[in-house]
Amino acid sequence: MIYADNAATTKLDIDAFEAMKPFLLEEYANASQPYSFSRKVKKAILEARATIAMCIGALPEEIFFTSGGTESDNWAIKGTVFQNVTAGVITSQIEHHAVMNACAAVERQGVPVVYLPVDEQGIVHQESLKKVVTDYHRIVSIMYANNEVGTIQPIRELCEIAHQHNVIFHTDAVQAVAHVPINVHDLGLDMLSASAHKFNGMKGVGFLYIRKGIEIERYSDGGMQESGMRAGTENVAGIIAMAAALKKNCDCMEAYTSHMRRLKEIILCILSENMVDFICNGAPDALPGILSISFRNADGEKLLHRLDLMGVCVSTGAACDSRNTKVSHVLEAMRVPPEYAKGTIRISLGNGNTENDAVTITNALVKILTSKSMRDKRKD
Ligand code: PLP
Repeated sequence: MIYADNAATTKLDIDAFEAMKPFLLEEYANASQPYSFSRKVKKAILEARATIAMCIGALPEEIFFTSGGTESDNWAIKGTVFQNVTAGVITSQIEHHAVMNACAAVERQGVPVVYLPVDEQGIVHQESLKKVVTDYHRIVSIMYANNEVGTIQPIRELCEIAHQHNVIFHTDAVQAVAHVPINVHDLGLDMLSASAHKFNGMKGVGFLYIRKGIEIERYSDGGMQESGMRAGTENVAGIIAMAAALKKNCDCMEAYTSHMRRLKEIILCILSENMVDFICNGAPDALPGILSISFRNADGEKLLHRLDLMGVCVSTGAACDSRNTKVSHVLEAMRVPPEYAKGTIRISLGNGNTENDAVTITNALVKILTSKSMRDKRKD
């Protein structure tokens, strides 16, 4: 099996696993208890918080552990909006559903939400934010990098525009953290969402960076964990693994990035050599691991299933319902021509993928696309 769906989730890193293991089997104390058995756990959480903060240029007290990207996004948006429900939200048309549906939820409570358009590469232009943002908005939430096409946004510039109106700026950086260098301080960010399972940590754990001084409602009521902002016993092992995985990925980022760019080149080169009719979606300097390719007059779902039969895991940019193929909101917003959009797959590479994987995946794709049955279907 070749796994090329690392934007969906990644394999737990072995060193992260080793780091968390004692906290599952031996050091299982509740960090909030006063006895000495808890001390080691408390210290490990403190250290993990400091490691994570250092990796993104934050202060330890600005890191709040959550259950992952979805919770972080919901907290950032609802936690700021519900302090002042007359103020509006600005986001983009290509956000992940965690942001999209959080925005839909606040809209149902009467909060106005503006969805900024993107260009053909999936970029939010500064001008479009300048046109709509006012001092009456509460939060601008624009993703750092898109999960379907990998396009990276001009976050620093967009953040500056929001700040000119004293509006809070949040970024969903779930796909970007540990994959591209991020310094929240240099970027001027107020909030940032991250999720451990996108960078070889565990599923069900993540964090929200909240800049000191930002006013936000607490996420949950209960105990005093996370400085009283997010009650609930910590996922200790998950937090330890997240810090270890983040540190390792940040330390190896350059090597991982050039490796994945090389794999992408191999895939595109083989497709071109075989004269397959395709386009690449997203900006040329997109995330190193994500490759969104649309094949003319193909069916993304059928491609996915045929690849699955050949032992290759990828995902699509279009899904079939009972009657027709529905193109994703991201490809639609980017105005990918329908004859290509329906035949989109996302190959998302991880640091465990090899050059051989890239060759095997692409040869499988070429075989499917040039097979007689697929050619006949494409003519229909
Ligand atoms: N935001 C983005 C951009 C994502 O890609 C994802 C997951 O795919 C999420 C948020 C949700 O993260 P989680 O799975 O940790 O809830």
